[in-house]
Amino acid sequence: MASSMAVKRVIILGIDGAGAFVSEADTPYIDVLLLGGAKTNHAQTVFPSNSGECWGSLLHGVTPERHESHLNIKMEQNYPIASDAPSLFQIISEAKPNSQMASFVSWKPIQTGIIEENESVYKYAAPDEELVPAIVAYIRNNPDFELLFVQLDDVDAAGHQHGYGSEEYLKAISRADKQIGEISKAILNAGMLEDSLIIVTTDHGGGGLDAFNHGSDHPKDMTIFWGCRGSGVQSEADLVGLTIMDTAAVVLSALGLPVPGNWDAKLPNGLLVKTGQR
Ligand SMILES: [Zn+2]
Repeated sequence: MASSMAVKRVIILGIDGAGAFVSEADTPYIDVLLLGGAKTNHAQTVFPSNSGECWGSLLHGVTPERHESHLNIKMEQNYPIASDAPSLFQIISEAKPNSQMASFVSWKPIQTGIIEENESVYKYAAPDEELVPAIVAYIRNNPDFELLFVQLDDVDAAGHQHGYGSEEYLKAISRADKQIGEISKAILNAGMLEDSLIIVTTDHGGGGLDAFNHGSDHPKDMTIFWGCRGSGVQSEADLVGLTIMDTAAVVLSALGLPVPGNWDAKLPNGLLVKTGQR
């Protein structure tokens, strides 16, 4: 029998540049979504704390030196299929050849620089405001998807424009929270809340060395919010030492797939337990 830990699908809701500031903003929808789940304000991203490196590590389960997504993005080239650090999408589609997956992003380079060309993956890029209704429609029309990745970008833009931690920036986090509320409602309406694992996280913070930027190893840039909910998630799990890379291990484990032995990602101890199966 396959691992009874498995859920039917994983949904990753990513807010670019929100760092650990999520706890300082008003986020009622995220709070409700993660009620009974596990979360931390002390997870760590990878260095340098930039989106290519960080989303790359989240989706590939290894350090930036190993996935090199940021270099693809810089050179505007597609992520190589024959990489020795394939993304979650590639690993899942190889393990489950008929799987359906999707990546909805506001920051377009993710689609080619971080995620391989893969006919199992539906890719859509648009500004946050247009992205959210498209995600809602995708959830409604695709009952059998296995992985959905979402990246909202307005929070990071607000950080660059107004300063990380500023009032305008915290308002942008609250707007992202409301959008996550819309996506949550779609998940609930589609009957997917109980058999999904949902992760809410961010790629990096900001305001460490520069009030309007990120990329340094300062704790304000490196520390991130991370939370998940779903069948088998233990709310009292010890998330000390959690890194953004570990997200990839959580995703594969939740889907009942083995975590590659050469990954830097590790499944946090006690986060997922086997649920009873008849
Ligand atoms: Zn940025």
